[in-house]
Amino acid sequence: RKREGKNGAQVYDPAILDRTRERAEIESDIEAALASHWFEAHFQQIVEIETGRIIGFEALMRMRHPRKGLLPPAAVIGVAEETGSIGQIGEQIFEDAIANLARVSRLPGLGDTYVAVNFSPLQFDGHLATYLAGVLNRYDIRPSRLVVEITEAVLMHDNPEIRRILDSIHQLGCRIAIDDFGTGYSSLSYMSRFPVDIVKIDQSFIRSLDGSRKEVAEKSRMLVEGISAISHKMKCAVIAEGVETEDQRNFLREIGVDCAQGYLYAKPLGIADLMTTLSRSNDE
Ligand code: C2E
Ligand code: CA
Ligand code: CA
Ligand code: CA
Repeated sequence: RKREGKNGAQVYDPAILDRTRERAEIESDIEAALASHWFEAHFQQIVEIETGRIIGFEALMRMRHPRKGLLPPAAVIGVAEETGSIGQIGEQIFEDAIANLARVSRLPGLGDTYVAVNFSPLQFDGHLATYLAGVLNRYDIRPSRLVVEITEAVLMHDNPEIRRILDSIHQLGCRIAIDDFGTGYSSLSYMSRFPVDIVKIDQSFIRSLDGSRKEVAEKSRMLVEGISAISHKMKCAVIAEGVETEDQRNFLREIGVDCAQGYLYAKPLGIADLMTTLSRSNDE
């Protein structure tokens, strides 16, 4: 491999040189992380608004770097999608998520909770459903306890192959959630063309519900209410993302949004902290 600094004329611009170095560093961090299992799935609660009950968790990728500490997905995913390592990372996160769900399940009252895992478009190949089934089986987790979270990037090309893969995941018994709903070009049309079970309303809408600009807040309330109503008509459950305040929660409850996820309830936690928090709240 070429050593840094020997790249010659095209990297005279110090900004470009910085970016090249930074990128090379991320790539080598990813390689090390895959080899040494630095990737881990953190869990954030998803709560039924009406009852306050935890119904599931979203698994969120973290890289536990021995020197740099805990790195968020933003630092990793772009590069991983370019180099293709997102496939392997995704498998480590998925398997860690299912292993963690198995542990959480042993706590009283949490035996039916699900885990929602984010999948990159690059993970959608013809073997995905078989692979998922194998891992679920290995940990003795029913397929209905897995939610596959996809973004518009997966659905955008209206590819019949993607449809078949989603159908086979659905037939396995897993549910499918559309993430960041409302931020894309044609969120509504995906709801009718793909087997979607859950709509996750993007946090940007939730944030502006009680924002300082009155007209914006008013319009956001109408949008969230509308998205929720349409989703329910399409037999989809609705989750509001990024819920941070009581006012947001109260509004969401009023208009009948099913579930909420956000700092108001809990931040994403590593498995050790999660187990402590959950056992403590079980004792109360
Ligand atoms: P996302 O799927 O929309 O996940 C929600 C993000 O919002 C998470 O950021 C979460 O920590 C954050 N969040 C949760 N509640 C609140 C809140 O109340 N307020 C605010 N401001 N933020 C909140 P995170 O963990 O940094 O993940 C960022 C994105 O990275 C995710 O967005 C998802 O698109 C992607 N990602 C995370 N894990 C994976 C993974 O395993 N695979 C893939 N392909 N993508 C992942
Ligand atoms: Ca997500
Ligand atoms: Ca989201
Ligand atoms: Ca997002």
